[in-house]
Amino acid sequence: MKPLQELVRPNIWKLAPYSSARNEYAGKEARVFLDANENPYNAPYNRYPDPLQTELKAQLAKIKNVPAENIFLGNGSDEAIDLVYRVFCRPGVDNVVAIEPTYGMYKVCADTNDVSYRPVQLDAHYAMHADSLLRSCDKHTKVIWICSPNNPTGNNMAVEEIEGVLRQFGGIVVVDEAYGDFSSAPVFRTRLQEFPNLIVLNTLSKAWGCAALRLGMAFASKDIIDLFNKVKYPYNVNLLTQQHALEMLNERENVEKWVTILLQERTRLMRAFIDLPVCEQVYPSDANFFLAKMTDAQAIYDYLVEKGIIVRNRTRVTLCQGCLRITIGTKTENSELMGALRQYNP
Ligand SMILES: *Cc1c(COP(=O)(O)O)cnc(C)c1O
Repeated sequence: MKPLQELVRPNIWKLAPYSSARNEYAGKEARVFLDANENPYNAPYNRYPDPLQTELKAQLAKIKNVPAENIFLGNGSDEAIDLVYRVFCRPGVDNVVAIEPTYGMYKVCADTNDVSYRPVQLDAHYAMHADSLLRSCDKHTKVIWICSPNNPTGNNMAVEEIEGVLRQFGGIVVVDEAYGDFSSAPVFRTRLQEFPNLIVLNTLSKAWGCAALRLGMAFASKDIIDLFNKVKYPYNVNLLTQQHALEMLNERENVEKWVTILLQERTRLMRAFIDLPVCEQVYPSDANFFLAKMTDAQAIYDYLVEKGIIVRNRTRVTLCQGCLRITIGTKTENSELMGALRQYNP
């Protein structure tokens, strides 16, 4: 890895962060808060929340097996994605490389930050090759984006290929494991010591069933986490989210139950799709969704919308021509989808 200072935007390296009222007295016992221009009435909503989410990180450290100092929490992983650009990429100068197709936010955030985005196509089996990603890099490439299991293709990227990128690339490698809870593949967040250029993303939005809370995680070296904390809005994770997330972390059996059911349902639904005359191919999945190639994706999509059933039409996405992406729902919802598709008359 190149020295961190060479990778970080010079203005961010030099940045003196906003010092919030709640940071400055740190270490002392305090009872009377007359420092932040808050209203003393209407507890607990009158007080600014903990800017570094100390309690939540302590719990997550145990669950995720990553020290608290290596955790950043954001307003969804989308905040962490945007921060990667704001910390590392000089607008109009630097570029990033990403597997293609993949999660759309990597490109949207590149565009909003005026950073050039270089998509590198997966092969016909949706597999990633370290060499082709590395070949697309030049001296201005700051970040390589890898999503595993990948959205929208559903499959894991090969561990050896991800390791190859981490070892051979001198910049930052982001491995987005938003769907890691659905997969039995080894996760990368516990290998931060081995790879100082690694940033791993996790989220409460998928297996944890908390998309509405907006809580995303980034795991990285302390130096990278410190940079994220310096650039983020001071109170980026609100009190309700911090409190409710703590409650959810105490009910972890639910997550395991949900994952088990969703994986069973995924198997059932994929088998049913294979038998549909309008389905040409079902792609393997390590996530809570799968991609299916249909005879006429647009017409089937429209037909389902008419019936009040919404799936994701991916037919205009690179390498996904004719494909619908199906999220696994409850048993009832999945059966309703199959019922509608069996009745479909092209
Ligand atoms: C859904 C998803 C996320 C989650 O984003 P949040 O902002 O945490 O809700 C992140 N990455 C990928 C690849 C996703 O599909």
